Parts: sequence; structure tokens; C-alpha cells
Amino acid sequence: MSSDTSDQSTADSLEPAPDASESALSTARRQLDRAVALVDVDPNVVERFTYPDGVHEVTVPIERDDGTVEVFRGYRAQHDSVRGPYKGGIRFHPEVSREECIGLAMWMTWKCAVMDIPFGGAKGGVVVDPKELSDDERERLTRRFTDEIRNVIGPTTDIPAPDMGTDAETMSWMMDAYSMQEAETIPGVVTGKPPVIGGSEGRSEAPGRSVAIVTREVADYYGSPLSESTVAVQGFGSVGANAARLLDDWGATVVAVSDVNGAAYDPGGLDTRAIPSHEEEPEAVTRHADRTIENDELLALDVDVLVPAAVGNAITEANVGDVRADVIVEGANGPVSFGADEILAERDVPVIPDILANAGGVTVSYFEWLQDINRRAWSEERVNEELETEMLSAWDAVRTEYEDRDVSWRDAAYAVALGRLAKAHEARGLWP
Ligand code: GLU
Repeated sequence: MSSDTSDQSTADSLEPAPDASESALSTARRQLDRAVALVDVDPNVVERFTYPDGVHEVTVPIERDDGTVEVFRGYRAQHDSVRGPYKGGIRFHPEVSREECIGLAMWMTWKCAVMDIPFGGAKGGVVVDPKELSDDERERLTRRFTDEIRNVIGPTTDIPAPDMGTDAETMSWMMDAYSMQEAETIPGVVTGKPPVIGGSEGRSEAPGRSVAIVTREVADYYGSPLSESTVAVQGFGSVGANAARLLDDWGATVVAVSDVNGAAYDPGGLDTRAIPSHEEEPEAVTRHADRTIENDELLALDVDVLVPAAVGNAITEANVGDVRADVIVEGANGPVSFGADEILAERDVPVIPDILANAGGVTVSYFEWLQDINRRAWSEERVNEELETEMLSAWDAVRTEYEDRDVSWRDAAYAVALGRLAKAHEARGLWP
């Protein structure tokens, strides 16, 4: 049975719902409005950035293990492709929505432009709690969803990757489902695959590595090197655990790390490798801790650097008053709400934005795509070296805007991204 419900939304149906003031889409649009007021961008180009190029909505029927059929809803939002194919993750999460996908796709457009990699922005997902599916059910869901969006993805058009609730195994199934229908092996259709089928070494650690690199740079910038800095990390999945462990290796004192159940806390510094990451043992942080605190206590710790690396909207107007960190480095996508961001700016607390800090993921996705096209694997050392180079170059570009324009770090990152995107739009013009 085909569920041919893919559509291209009209601009009007993309307005945020009235109760969605903290939705990813509303936050992304308010951030865009704030940034364009500071940057000289052609208003005609800005008008195009406000809407996605398209949103594909599908239904995904699968057979559950008990023989019943259940139908899930899925999306792929494609925001802008002026600089290259659409690029961005696939989420399996109960709170996935059309608006969330559009907002997250916008952030991918800026992220790829900040990193100066030749991709546009997309995001997709299925409204499902993957914890409630068996492995077989997850595989059936992934394969059927891939089939439903097959006409709008491809190695030169739109390249998915892992995001919340999906991983390298999910990408293997997507790559296989797509390749079987095309009757040839096409590794470049997704990134974040296992290296044995064309994935890149270093890809799964990359978002955490970039968070660590940016934290190191920002700590030096404010004259408090990692060896003298305390860090708290919310979330111990692929972003948080890798960031915490690298920062620990590089001399920082990581005083707290957390998962959904709470945080491990040691003011003298945790041994971050003795605590299992979500991939190693799901939701086990507090089981391996001598001393625990609540998640909201972690966010309120008096540390040099706070890294929210778990979910969107972790810091909102409701709890920002408790935040005592000197600097915030965004590990998750959208962990600081628009209102909280404004309050932190008034308090002169620097917030290093997600579109720079966690961009190591999509950057190594780009390296993976290059390896797939060339059918040639890079060593982990090469991946990490090139990632370091790209991160430092993006950091320099953002730091220059920050200093020249005297704006927030987020606005500085938007200035870099919007400048590059506007030039590309101006050069290509409007078709037809
Ligand atoms: N989901 C990741 C992100 O939000 C990676 C996307 C990708 O590699 O395409 O940046």
C-alpha cells in the first residue's frame, strides 16, 4: 500500500501554532529576525529564508510483532539548497512535528554555511518513541520510512544522517533500503553509517569533539584555559559523553554529567570514562555515581562552562535565573530558548551557539560523503585533523564577526552564515 501523502506546504500553513512560542521553528525565526536586523542582507533573500523550500509528510505503516498494523507519521523538511544538497538528521522521537523539522532544517542551513561546507539544510523524523519498538519493528519502520521519502532524498539531492533516537544502525537500514530500490549500492545517500559500509571513522564522536574544541577555544578566549576550568555537561549520549571525555583528557575538571535520571557529581572532577555513555549502557549515569544530584541542580552549578547536550529548550525563561555558569556552549540543537538567550545576553553570559559548537557532526558527515563518492576511506587521524582545521577556521570567522560587530556569539555566527548564503543567492538569482 502506498501512502502518497507527500506534499509541498504553502507558506501560510507554515506559520507557527499560537502555543508554539518555544518551538524550534518559532525560535529559529526569531533568531533570524534578530540577526538580520544587525547584518546587511538583501530583504528579498531574507524573505526566502523564512520558509522552507518544501516539507514532505508521509504515513509509515508497519506490522508490529503481534501482527497488528500501526501507522506512524513522518516528515522531511528541506529548507534551503543554494550552496549544495540538503543535509540533516532523522529523528525518531514522540515530539517530532512538522514545525520542529522546519526549525531544525533552518538551523542545518546556517550550520553548514557557518562551517563553509557545500550543503543546505534539512531535517526529518518519525513521530514515535523508539524505546517502545522492538529491534525488528525499528528496522521495519526505518525501511518503510526510507521508501516513503525515497523520491526526495539521494546522494546529490538530500542526505540524511543520525539525530535523536537514530544511530549508525538506522543509517545502515536506510542505505540498504534506498540502494535495493535503486539496484546499486549508494553509500552517499546517508551519512553516519558504520565504517564497514562506507561510514567515516570518527563520525560518531565528531559532534562531541567539536563541542570540546569550541569549549577549549572559548575558555582560552576568556583567559581561563581548560586546565583551570570546571565543566558541567547535561546529557551523556554521543554529544555529551564525547565532549565530556575529551575535555577531561584535555585537562578540564568535569564536575557533573547527567542523563534523564539525574547527574553524577564530584566537585573534585569525575572520571568520565568510568561512567557509561548512553550507547554503552543506556540511562546508567546515576548507577555509576558515588554522589548524585538532580538535573536542575546540574544546570544551576557554579561552573566555568555549562554544556547542555541533551534536548532542546533545556534552559528557558523558567530556569535561566538559576544558571550560574560563566559560559554556555550549546551541545544539543536549540537547548537555550529565545527568551532565555535574551536574558543571558543582558547578564553578559556568553552563549556559544549550536550551529557552531556541535557542527562537527555534519562536518564529518561531509568528509564521509567525500569518502563515499571517491570510494576511499580516510584514517581516524586524518578525519580528526581535518575536523580540527575546519572548526578553527569557523571559530575564527565567528570570532571576527563577534569582535567587529559587537554582537552576541549567536548573532556573529548568523552573520557568517547569512553573508555566505546571501552571496550564493545573489549570484544564482531567482528562477525562472
Ligand atoms: N543531526 C546532526 C546535526 O544536527 C548531524 C546532521 C548531519 O550530519 O547531516 O547536526
